[in-house]
Amino acid sequence: MKIVTTIKEVKETINEWRARGLSVGFVPTMGYLHEGHASLMKEAKKQTDKVAVSIFVNPTQFGPGEDYDAYPRDLDHDAAMCEAEGVDLIFHPSVEEMYGKNYNTYVNMETLGDELCGKSRPTHFRGVCTVVTKLFNIVNPDKAFFGQKDAQQFVIIKRMVKDLNMRVEVIGCPIIREEDGLAKSSRNTYLSAEERQAALILSQTIALGLDMVKNGEKDVNTLLTAMKEKIETEPLAKIDYVEVVDGETMQKVNTIEESVLVAMAVYIGKTRLIDNFMYEF
Ligand code: AMP
Repeated sequence: MKIVTTIKEVKETINEWRARGLSVGFVPTMGYLHEGHASLMKEAKKQTDKVAVSIFVNPTQFGPGEDYDAYPRDLDHDAAMCEAEGVDLIFHPSVEEMYGKNYNTYVNMETLGDELCGKSRPTHFRGVCTVVTKLFNIVNPDKAFFGQKDAQQFVIIKRMVKDLNMRVEVIGCPIIREEDGLAKSSRNTYLSAEERQAALILSQTIALGLDMVKNGEKDVNTLLTAMKEKIETEPLAKIDYVEVVDGETMQKVNTIEESVLVAMAVYIGKTRLIDNFMYEF
C-alpha cells in the first residue's frame, strides 16, 4: 500500500493502473477511520480492481465555530486499517496541496442543500461538492463509495455527478452501527461515558420513526411530534433538526407517500450527531 501526499503522485499511480487495464474504486474520507469507512473499502474491493482512499479533513466544509481544529486525526491508525482492508493507495494531502495560493473556484448546489444539514450548516455542501469534485478529478475513479449515514450528502453527490456529466459511478452503502445501535462516527470520540449512553436516543428515535412509517403512518406532523417527544426524554439531547424530506428533491413533504428521507441532527452536549432512515414505497 502506497501513502502519498501530492496530486502528481496520485495521478502517476492511477495512470499506471489504467495503463494495465485495471478499474479504480475510490473512498473519500476525513480519516479517524472506523468500521463504517471499512465497509466502504470492502465494497470497493469487491467491485473494483484497485482501491484508493483519501484522508483529508476538508476545511471548506466546516463553518465558523465548527470543529475543524478539534476534528480527530490519526494517520497511523488509519493506515493500519486501510492496509488490513487491502487498500492500494492512500492520498493524504495538506491543505496547501488541495487549496493553493489564490484558490478561487467552488461548486455550489442549488436547492438540494436547502433543508436538513444544509440549513444548519449553510456553507457545508459547497465545501463538500468542491472537494469531492477536486478529488474525482485527481483520482479519476470508475466508482466512488459513500455511506448512507450522510444521506443528504449522498443524494447531493449523485445529483452533482449527473448534472455535471462526471464519468464516475456513485455507490451508496448502508449505515454501520455499534452493537447498541449508535451510528459509527469519528465524532463519537468526543462523547463522555454519560454522553455516549445519552447518544442512544438518536438510533432509538430512528427505530421508533421507522416502525411508525412501516405501520402505515402517513402524516409527517404526527411522525415528527412523536420523534421529537422521544428525543426530549433525554436531558443531554438538544434537537438541531428532525425533518422528513422527499428522497430525491430533499424538499419538505407533509405526507409520506413517495420515497422519503427521515433525518435528524441532535446535539449531545457539544457534539452534533446525525442519523436517518430512507423509506421507499
Ligand atoms: P467522513 O470521514 O465522516 O467524511 O466519512 C467518509 C465516508 O464514510 C462518507 O461517505 C460517510 O457517509 C461514510 N461513513 C461514515 N460513517 C459511516 C457509517 N457509520 N456507516 C456507513 N458509512 C459511513
